Amino acid sequence: MKRKLFIGNDWVAGKSGKHIDCIDPASGEVFDSVPAGGPADIDAAVSAARQAFDRGWKRTTGAERAKILRAISAGITANRERLAALETRDNGKPLPESFIDVDTIAQIYEMYAGLAEGLDARGEEALDLPGDAIRSTVAYRPIGVVGMITPWNFPLEQFTWKVAPALAAGCCAVVKPSEYTSLSALELAGIIAEAGLPAGVLNVVTGTGPEAGDALVRHPGVDKISFTGSTATGKHIMRTAAEDLKRVSLELGGKNPVIVFDDVDIDAGVEWVAFGAFVNQGQVCTATSRLLIHAPIADRFLKRLVEVAQGIRIGSGAAEGVKMGPLVSQVQYDKVMSHIAAGKKAGATLLTGGTRPAGLGKGYFLAPTIFADVTENMSIWTEEIFGPVLSVMRFEDEDEAIRLANDTPYGLAATVLSKDKDRAERVADALDTGITWQNCNNMVVIQAPWGGVKKSGMGRELGRWGLESFLEPKQKTRWLTAGSLGWYDMPAAAK
Ligand code: NAD
Repeated sequence: MKRKLFIGNDWVAGKSGKHIDCIDPASGEVFDSVPAGGPADIDAAVSAARQAFDRGWKRTTGAERAKILRAISAGITANRERLAALETRDNGKPLPESFIDVDTIAQIYEMYAGLAEGLDARGEEALDLPGDAIRSTVAYRPIGVVGMITPWNFPLEQFTWKVAPALAAGCCAVVKPSEYTSLSALELAGIIAEAGLPAGVLNVVTGTGPEAGDALVRHPGVDKISFTGSTATGKHIMRTAAEDLKRVSLELGGKNPVIVFDDVDIDAGVEWVAFGAFVNQGQVCTATSRLLIHAPIADRFLKRLVEVAQGIRIGSGAAEGVKMGPLVSQVQYDKVMSHIAAGKKAGATLLTGGTRPAGLGKGYFLAPTIFADVTENMSIWTEEIFGPVLSVMRFEDEDEAIRLANDTPYGLAATVLSKDKDRAERVADALDTGITWQNCNNMVVIQAPWGGVKKSGMGRELGRWGLESFLEPKQKTRWLTAGSLGWYDMPAAAK
């Protein structure tokens, strides 16, 4: 099947006529294709978005937008089987996890419907000013046309984390999904149009980063770029967007630690660590990729962790009972394997994994991998791998654990496991990350702010913070007294 681009509520062929293959990562076989969009397609999409914005979307009330957001949520729920199956085919993730993604995005559109209504209730905020000469209020205006660039690890979620709050704020969007997993974005666009969204408010242009993505970042008609992806691409995008001072928000990579103290219940602790490291094949920006284990329990904990890792059922995401599917692509598989080779070469001890699991000859399957005897200067400890690879170091006391956890350029998420609630709280407060989890791991709370500090990005998604990132505060100040300022009569020293 040859898909089309979604521009102005219409399905249109890409101008270049070229396509990108969609590959099933469980088999390596091509099963679909999407247009390889480029600058001309981006131009058409941005102009559709600009027209929709100026024609009236920017003047809609929050209540009007909420009605459409709720209809989108209902449309997603009505199509949940189809969306989940497509996501698993395109990305490889286990089907139950695709269902969680579909149900979560339905909730996110609902949540932003409520927040859009909240904008009506907030109205213009009056400021409490001294004196009675002036009155200032703050109106919140949609930023305008937003270019959105998303990665391949959670295609439905990443699309929604940006599109739902942008629509709630009254913005128009041009989305460029990852070239590895574009299908669910196109499906969602169809569902969103059926929910009654006016033409041009949402547009989807598929294509590669250097062609379609770069054209979107450079387009003068775009007011803001909202990007999720690697730190390297994020830096490049920020530099390019600086040319015409576009607003930018960036959700980037991580090298997320979990600190496990010696008072944990070993089985529960192992499950949280394994979940954080291996869910979604470790292709999660907040994936646990560094384990800091308290020395007194290290041997027992690692023994159990290895047993659990070896018991994880791996296979096609569509197969019953599978907990880990394939990595997303050959490119990603090769990248992760090169990190594993670097770990071995540096002298880390491979406790388990590091290879293709037995019996899975085709597809991009990789066994959960754990390295022990890792040192601070090894690349498996310092660089984001974005695959099912966990590196382990031991620590003796709390201060050492905090120092090792924070010794990274990244600052996305960190986890602490300890029965001592005061200690968990203290350590969480000392961790330099945008997100901390205590006695759980990789929990996505859609009402809470999501994002990183340091080189993990800037800005926050989800919750009310996600909505604010698509609004500009506009100051409105009025002179209330009948007279003038009296500037001409001011004493010279005051002039
Ligand atoms: P990537 O940076 O390679 O690609 C992300 C997107 O950017 C894709 O759509 C790609 O086509 C586009 N792109 C690439 N080059 C571009 C360019 N020059 N101009 C414009 N667009 C360009 O990242 P990826 O491999 O798709 O995703 C994995 C990365 O995403 C990891 O680093 C991960 O940590 C990060 N991530 C972060 C979060 C978060 O919330 N912080 C969430 C998910 C993924």
